[in-house]
This record gives sequence, C-alpha cells and structure tokens, in this order.
Amino acid sequence: MAKKEKQFAVIGLGRFGASVAMTLLKLGYEVLAIDSNPEQVQKFSDSITHVVQADTTDENALKELGIRNFDTVVVAIGADIQANTMTTLLLKDLGVNRIVAKASNTLHGKMLQKIGADQVVYPERDMGQRVAHNLAAPNVLDYIELSPEVSIVEVSAPQMLIGKSLAEAKLRSVYGINVVAIKRGEEMIVPPLPDEKILAQDILIVVGDSVGAQRLEELQ
Ligand code: ATP
Repeated sequence: MAKKEKQFAVIGLGRFGASVAMTLLKLGYEVLAIDSNPEQVQKFSDSITHVVQADTTDENALKELGIRNFDTVVVAIGADIQANTMTTLLLKDLGVNRIVAKASNTLHGKMLQKIGADQVVYPERDMGQRVAHNLAAPNVLDYIELSPEVSIVEVSAPQMLIGKSLAEAKLRSVYGINVVAIKRGEEMIVPPLPDEKILAQDILIVVGDSVGAQRLEELQ
C-alpha cells in the first residue's frame, strides 16, 4: 500500500498500543513503535517495520528518536501511570504537534488534559460502554459517548419506523437526535434527506442527546 504522508509514533506495545500501531500500518501510514521492554520489541519486530526499545521517560531517548518530527504521538503505556504521565509531559515540552494519551481512570485523564494532551482516550471504559449498550439493546450495533450528554449510536432501524420517511419519523423533534447517515447494505447515504424512507435492514447512525438516543435504542 502507498505510504501516506502523516507519521505516527506509538509508545507502549500492550494490547491497545499494538492494535493502534498495526491498524495505522494497515491503513498505509508510517509508524514508529516504541517500548521499553525488549521482549515486546522482539515480539513485534516482524510485523512493525520501525520498532525500537527506549524508555520514554528519558528525555534524551525521546530527542534521539526525533519524536518532535512525528505528526501524532500516541501514549499507550498502561499500568505505569507515572511513566505514562511523565512521557506525556516530556512530549509536550518537546513540542510534539498532537499527543493522544491513554488514561487508566478519570483522575488520570484529567491530569493528562492539564498537562496538555490533545486527546485523552479511555479504551477500557469506552469498550465497556459499547458492550453494555449492545447487551441492553441488541439492536445497538455501536455506541460512542462524545460527552456525558451527547452520543453517537449505530442502531438497526426499529420496526415501528420502517416505511416512514425521516421527516415522518420525527426523530429530531421527539427524541432530539439527528440521523447523520443510513447504512443500506453496501450503500452509505450521507447525509440522508428528510424524505428518505427508512427500510427494513437499514442501519441508522444517529447523533444527539444521550437520553433521546437511549429512548431510540429501546424502540422496537
Ligand atoms: P493493554 O491493556 O493495552 O494490553 P496495559 O494497560 O496492560 O496494556 P502495560 O502493559 O502496562 O499496559 O503497558 C503497555 C506497554 O508499555 C508495555 O509493553 C510496557 O513495556 C510499555 N511501557 C511501560 N513503561 C514504558 C516506558 N517508560 N517507556 C516505553 N514503554 C513503556
């Protein structure tokens, strides 16, 4: 696959970091993967082109790697909150353009934000929410909380909306949610017009307030 221009570095090759690095590679990006544990470096030496051993709490090590030149650096160190936080701080000090840091809990996340991480991610919490929403309402295929009030939900079209146009379904006025796309087999209708009819087997991608989204999830 052709190399795309953006360059990423991923620090910490646990399950999350490795998955981020491998997915970026598959998408055609250049990735530098870094881990302090030689065994992890060895484990990924065949699958990730640029994988190096370095302790990223060491400022000189980061400078030697030329970490400033990467467009985005992902801090995926997990259990060692101190190493995760220190790495984020050093990356910020070195002037890295965009830092995405994995938080272990809310307090840690707040700290990362204060330090200046551009994006804080909570993979375990987010995946837990997605699984729970899917368990509670099996027609929910995916769920992403954008803020405590707003979420994006991917939901199979509820039976009672089938045959209605989006205007007739009144999702905006009744539930406070907007249908931003409809997946219909291989086709993706973005954005759907108000007179688009909802068909059986359609998947609706909606954004809106979490209470309304939950009511939609519960519709049959
Ligand atoms: P996951 O849930 O994603 O598997 P985890 O939360 O269990 O990960 P850890 O295994 O604690 O996370 O950390 C991820 C990786 O980060 C490990 O492979 C570890 O070696 C690496 N790591 C820890 N400290 C540092 C550091 N100072 N510099 C570079 N890498 C580090």
